[in-house]
This record gives sequence, C-alpha cells and structure tokens, in this order.
Amino acid sequence: MASPDLKPSDTLQRRGLMLILSSPSGAGKTTISRMLLEADDEICLSVSVTTRPKRPGEVDGKDYIFVDQAEFDRMVEDDHFLEWAPVFGYCYGTPKAQVKAGLREGQDFLFDIDWQGTQQLYQKLEIDVVRVFLLPPSIDELRRRLTGRGTDSADVIARRMERARAEISHWDGYDYVVVNDDIGHCFDKVREILHAERMKRARQTGLIGFVRELMRD
Ligand code: 5GP
Repeated sequence: MASPDLKPSDTLQRRGLMLILSSPSGAGKTTISRMLLEADDEICLSVSVTTRPKRPGEVDGKDYIFVDQAEFDRMVEDDHFLEWAPVFGYCYGTPKAQVKAGLREGQDFLFDIDWQGTQQLYQKLEIDVVRVFLLPPSIDELRRRLTGRGTDSADVIARRMERARAEISHWDGYDYVVVNDDIGHCFDKVREILHAERMKRARQTGLIGFVRELMRD
C-alpha cells in the first residue's frame, strides 16, 4: 500500500528519453551538444562506434569508439547496434546495450546522428525518441562556416555544401526544428524542448502511485 504522505519526489522515476540532434555540419550541433552535456546531469552522450579515422583532439571511447571495418562488420553480425549507417564513406553505429538498460533506469541520452540513424531509432523506439533538427541561419552563413580558415579549395567547399544541402533535405523527418542564429538562443530552445519532453505524461510512469494517492478519499 502507498504511504499516506507520498510525495512526487519519492516516485519521480521516469523512463529515459532519446534526444536526437541532427544538422548539416556547420550548423552548430557539436557546440550545442557540448553545452547540453555540461549543463544537464540527467543526460549523457550515446558514444557511437565508427570506422572513420580519429581526428586530432578526439578521444577513443569519449568522442567515438574507433574500430576498423572488420571489427565493425563483426559488431553488425553480433547485433551490437540499435542502428547503423554509412555516412560520407565511413560506417557509424549506436551500441545497443548501454542505451536500452539506461532508458529503463530513467537515464536520458543525447544522440549526434544523421537522418538515417534517426529514422531507424524512430522505427524501433518511437515512444522514447525526440527528434531535433538544427538549421543554419542562412546559406551565406553556412558557406562561411564551411569555408574554414580559407585554406580549402573551391572543390572541397563545394562538396561540403552539397553534403549540407543533402542533410537539410531530410529536415521533415524531425519533431522540432531550431534555427541556430545565435548559439545562446539555440541552446535555450533545445533545453526547453528537453524539459517539456521530460514532463510528458507517458514518460512519468513513476507518478502513477502518487496520482492514485491524490485521488483517494
Ligand atoms: P563526424 O564524422 O563528422 O563526427 O560525423 C559525420 C556524421 O555522422 C554526422 O552527421 C553525425 O551526426 C553522424 N553520426 C555520428 N555517429 C553516428 C551514428 O552512430 N549513427 C548514425 N547514423 N550517424 C552518426
């Protein structure tokens, strides 16, 4: 029987959610992800596995789990991934174990994955998934951000723009769209989405006992 002085805080256990952030590169996704992970203790990054070579400054196990193609193929065969997809010539995948166990315990996860992974996660775990797409404020600003330090050739920049446009074309597969015209405003909006999604009734399974208690004579 429920205790007569049961409070919501005693029962706040809720199912975790999967916050997916996608965007073309150059729209600020990495910065927003970092800010969110720093500001919010209840969400952690789902670290993907990739066959892409490590970039300077990246840490194995923190930014990605770096493996070769043979190892990745083995993981696919062992049903290790919740989703996986080829992106720009390399393979990327979301490991299953950590996420599934975490969600049950109320842990939220942040996913920095592309539209293909988003579709797969949505098909498998629709109720847990919150899909957010970030857009750059203008095509000129996107070009400026993708031009880097001015050392890249026109060809390289044109290829980056083409990839960005291809990613943007999938924006209609998302629940929320945020234009990143100012990093602070964009971050605030993403946090508001996260806060509101956490309060959805369907996620607050732990409140059932409390609500029953409130309705008792
Ligand atoms: P990068 O190599 O620049 O870190 O990432 C390239 C693209 O791969 C980005 O659009 C990123 O969101 C996507 N990506 C990273 N991890 C995963 C993953 O586990 N699954 C899928 N489908 N895409 C991923």
